[in-house]
Amino acid sequence: MQSRTRIWTEVDYERDGKQVDWLHLPHSVTRSAYGTIAIPVAVVKNGEGPTALFTAGNHGDEYEGQVAICNLIRELRAETIRGRVIMIPALNLPAALAGTRVSPIDGGNLNRSFPGSPDGTVTQQIAHYVDSVLFPMADLFHDFHSGGGSLAYLPFASTHEGPDKEVNARGMAALRNFAAPVSLHWRQGADPRYSPGAAMKRGVAALGGEFGGGGSLNRAGLAFAEEGLIRHLRFLGILPGGAPEPRPTRMMEVPDQACFVYAPDAGVFEPATEIGDGVRKGDLCGRVHFVDDPARPPVSVFFKRDGIVVCQRHPARCERGDCVAHLALDVD
Ligand code: ZN
Repeated sequence: MQSRTRIWTEVDYERDGKQVDWLHLPHSVTRSAYGTIAIPVAVVKNGEGPTALFTAGNHGDEYEGQVAICNLIRELRAETIRGRVIMIPALNLPAALAGTRVSPIDGGNLNRSFPGSPDGTVTQQIAHYVDSVLFPMADLFHDFHSGGGSLAYLPFASTHEGPDKEVNARGMAALRNFAAPVSLHWRQGADPRYSPGAAMKRGVAALGGEFGGGGSLNRAGLAFAEEGLIRHLRFLGILPGGAPEPRPTRMMEVPDQACFVYAPDAGVFEPATEIGDGVRKGDLCGRVHFVDDPARPPVSVFFKRDGIVVCQRHPARCERGDCVAHLALDVD
């Protein structure tokens, strides 16, 4: 097994100026024997300084970050910065082009595939490139997500709680500076199969966030993603003007698995709450209806703790075990 990536690029990460090019992942198929999957990448660099790494399209059906990063790629000029910005707006390109969470090529969920493998599937090779080539260059990593086709979210930026206190503190400082209207702290641990968990293992401050959902593009989520990207660059000193003015954010946390509610049966899920509602332990979360057996009463499912509904399943049809809602708790 080889340890180095097979992905090649004509981008030179050390060259000053602005380059918008592709990462080429060799992919030999019937219609293209020596073909590659061309994943867009942009590098804007000017002299020495910190490196910001911004990615979206890790899940292909999550759009706010994809658009925000494309806009930043066109707007950012090398002569106005100090340091380096690496941007990949459609990281799992096959999924992004198909508008799907997972890759249509190998079924891979990129955000469960880190640290990946240079000899693995297409999705594992993308994860390996990010982990082995890009994370070692980065001072700050922000991977933009949303609920995708299956979940609707109260938009927020987030950071995970990993094992390293110093890395956690840098992530929390970046989250507070990003200052989305809602900031969320995932406290159940930083799963190293996820991109932020993998970055944090390499000592990189890492943010995520759910900027909308339902397979749509949330206008408010896009606006604060774009604003937050500029705030990151000023905070790092990559853009001039000093650190941005502090701004209030509603700080929330997901402390444990009891925040999540799952469908008890397959059917049509009728939610009993709206996103943003406050609920108490034992409150009705929703009911599953059986339209193929109307004499059967619906099955109710209840919240397991107090909290704020920040996420709900988007499509009404559900299978047993689907996450139908999750809560977060106000911190301050
Ligand atoms: Zn996602």
